[in-house]
Amino acid sequence: MNGWVESGAAVRIDVLVVGAGPTGLTAAIECLRQGLSVRVVDRREQRAEGSKALVVHARTMEAFRAMEVAEEIRSIGLPFAALNVFPDARPPAIRVPLDREADWGDTEFPYWLSAPQVEVERCLERRLGSLGGEVEWAQGLLDMHQDDSGVHAQLAGGECDARWLVGCDGGRSTLREQLGIRMERRDDGQLFVLADVLTRDEFPDDEGRVYRSRKGLTLIVPMPEPRRFRLIAHLPRLVDPPLIDASFVDQLVLDRTGVALGAHSVGWTSHVFLSHGQSQKMRRGRAFLAGDAAHLHSPVGGQGLNAGVQDAHDLIWKIAAAERGAPGWLESYEAERSVLAGRLVRAVTLATRVMTLQRLVPWALTARVARIALSTGPLQRQLTRRMGMLEQKLPPGPGVDKTPWAGRRLPNPFVGEQRMHDRIDPLRPSIVELPEGGVVVVRPDRVVVGRYPSATAIPPRIQSLLVEP
Ligand SMILES: Cc1cc2nc3c(=O)[nH]c(=O)nc-3n(C[C@H](O)[C@H](O)[C@H](O)COP(=O)(O)OP(=O)(O)OC[C@H]3O[C@@H](n4cnc5c(N)ncnc54)[C@H](O)[C@@H]3O)c2cc1C
Repeated sequence: MNGWVESGAAVRIDVLVVGAGPTGLTAAIECLRQGLSVRVVDRREQRAEGSKALVVHARTMEAFRAMEVAEEIRSIGLPFAALNVFPDARPPAIRVPLDREADWGDTEFPYWLSAPQVEVERCLERRLGSLGGEVEWAQGLLDMHQDDSGVHAQLAGGECDARWLVGCDGGRSTLREQLGIRMERRDDGQLFVLADVLTRDEFPDDEGRVYRSRKGLTLIVPMPEPRRFRLIAHLPRLVDPPLIDASFVDQLVLDRTGVALGAHSVGWTSHVFLSHGQSQKMRRGRAFLAGDAAHLHSPVGGQGLNAGVQDAHDLIWKIAAAERGAPGWLESYEAERSVLAGRLVRAVTLATRVMTLQRLVPWALTARVARIALSTGPLQRQLTRRMGMLEQKLPPGPGVDKTPWAGRRLPNPFVGEQRMHDRIDPLRPSIVELPEGGVVVVRPDRVVVGRYPSATAIPPRIQSLLVEP
């Protein structure tokens, strides 16, 4: 059955997805792949044009591969070759390779992919269309209530009854407010300016730059269009948001780094007031929060879009399992994702503070420490596998046992012609035999539930979760 439901249809659908950013589009695609009937609504009249988030990480590409959209997203993006860090704003830089020279291990996507969010959203929307779905614009969620069997939503253009409601409606989430869930949010009053500009300097097209200067942190990030870069600059003191044009960009970069950027053809620009936080809960009854609706952090880590896509990718197979008669997995959504969100918000907040420190620690000392640390393998690995979200470990709980490997991403080496991940059922938890003997129970998000000597050794609690009609 095609799970798409026409707007206004007077039937109860399986899932109503609120918000058509990267998180909501992922949720809608996954619903259709799982055979769930779905509507995805957004309060905007049409897609916003701003390029916003820029980096797609390896673990997100693995989710996109499962969604059969990775190739298209790769084709619109540019893999970073390296990150050049200038700990005290002047040369020489520490060049951290991010391409195949780097220690990526077993992923098929060994890179940071520069891909503007709006382009990623267009790819996702096309994928949604290929499955028969479509975003309903100008259909904001206004109100909702729920009982044990479903959710009733009041949308701008009518009403909708659904068995489940997924709120992907961003940092100022209406659903979060409707559910009475608080966001523990801290606004630092710090300002970042962002600008997509063409440049005339001679820096390689596919390498990023990070300048730690006393005047503020400055990142210059490659974009897929040749010679186009994203400037991300921290303005340390409270200032009125400046006008961002080519001469502002040139002057700021020159002042802080001594580089004559030659900025021109300014595209998207934005001011971002730093805000970080996490919603107290990610679920109330039959309604869930995902993406920015549940966690917010600074643009420095480039993790916002990635975390949202992974929330949605994780949630929908669990809803589908519940619909098929295995509700146990769904208990794990909030338990797992809120732990990951908390870690992420803390790590990005700390990294942002360390990189934007002004006077707390002697400047020359931090620059020297950064120089030494960044030249070593372990810290470089943080920028590949760690930033790529390949090393996340979920705590034991309803969806993760306490065996070796449990909670980690299944390794993905070649086994003969095939990679290990190709043995996983992309829609349901499955049992996979290991080449060295024994089995693992693996979820569609490639997380290992548990590793056992044989299929008969899988404990009854996990067995019961695998029994689906
Ligand atoms: C200016 C700016 C710059 C950023 N730069 C970066 C960056 O460089 N790197 C990075 O990783 N992240 C960045 N981010 C963050 C990143 O864009 C987000 O983490 C990402 O968009 C989260 O996706 P989402 O789908 O959860 O939410 P969003 O993309 O915010 O999508 C939410 C959607 O919900 C819709 N909506 C809201 N309320 C309702 C309602 N009541 N009913 C129906 N629909 C509703 C909105 O119209 C929107 O389309 C930036 C964000 C902003 C605003």
